[in-house]
Amino acid sequence: KILREDFLSALEEVKPAFGIASEEFEQCTANGIIEFAPSVRELMQKAHLFVEQVQQSSRSPLVSLLLHGPSGSGKTALAATIAQRNSYPFVKLVSPESMIGLTESQRVSAITKIFNDSYKSPLSLIVVDDIERLLEWVPIGARFSNSVLQTLLVLIKKQPPKGRRLLVIGTTSEREVLAQMDMATAFSNEIYVENIGTLSAMQAVVQHADLFDEQRDYDRLFADLEVYLENRPFSIGIKKLLLLVETARQDPDKYSRFKNEICNAY
Ligand code: ATP
Ligand code: MG
Repeated sequence: KILREDFLSALEEVKPAFGIASEEFEQCTANGIIEFAPSVRELMQKAHLFVEQVQQSSRSPLVSLLLHGPSGSGKTALAATIAQRNSYPFVKLVSPESMIGLTESQRVSAITKIFNDSYKSPLSLIVVDDIERLLEWVPIGARFSNSVLQTLLVLIKKQPPKGRRLLVIGTTSEREVLAQMDMATAFSNEIYVENIGTLSAMQAVVQHADLFDEQRDYDRLFADLEVYLENRPFSIGIKKLLLLVETARQDPDKYSRFKNEICNAY
């Protein structure tokens, strides 16, 4: 028989996990979320609807959302930000980084434990980051951990106990691979996280990062790039773009350095 005390102590038990998780999420969002295009805000709004749906509708105790897109497009930072910007009492990150050094069966137990812990809380959010790496998927020979896959497949689709609600947010750069493993369809919703493909979005990022002191340097740089990149489609992940800005910042000639890096790449 479960007593009220047991229930309360169970809630106590899951609290420390929440503390650890928020630090992990902070690491993922150290660079913040730059609204470089309307699509960023739209994506966050869409995701927030799922957060509210789980919170408010008793008919959907389980909602899952897969963020997929090219490597470095910002999936982890977006998932972590969604996790931070809500009032769920239980929020936890399952990431390849947190599984380093664990054997396959320890990985299975660690993942199962996080889901079991979440069932003790009335409202939970679990981010399952970088799923293909959690599965230790490698393109050569298409190898992966089948036991981790089966565990995730079950847990992502498993209804939480009565009165409990759960939102699962997954991320992947290999949506096609996950589709072949029936993993993509395990998620009830999907959002595509796109790379940066317009100069105005690129300019918004570079300006937000404060690369130059003068506005005219930005204008000159992007006028140059517009000429160079005319009729040349480009696509760059926010992660890489921010890295390029930081590399350029170290150079005495920031202007040429940034311009050359972009021009050489496309
Ligand atoms: P990977 O495919 O390697 O897992 P990823 O898609 O998960 O990469 P992140 O690790 O989230 O990408 O890197 C995105 C970086 O860009 C983070 O440092 C984040 O703070 C920063 N960032 C700035 N603006 C945005 C934005 N609008 N969306 C996403 N990330 C952003
Ligand atoms: Mg990531």
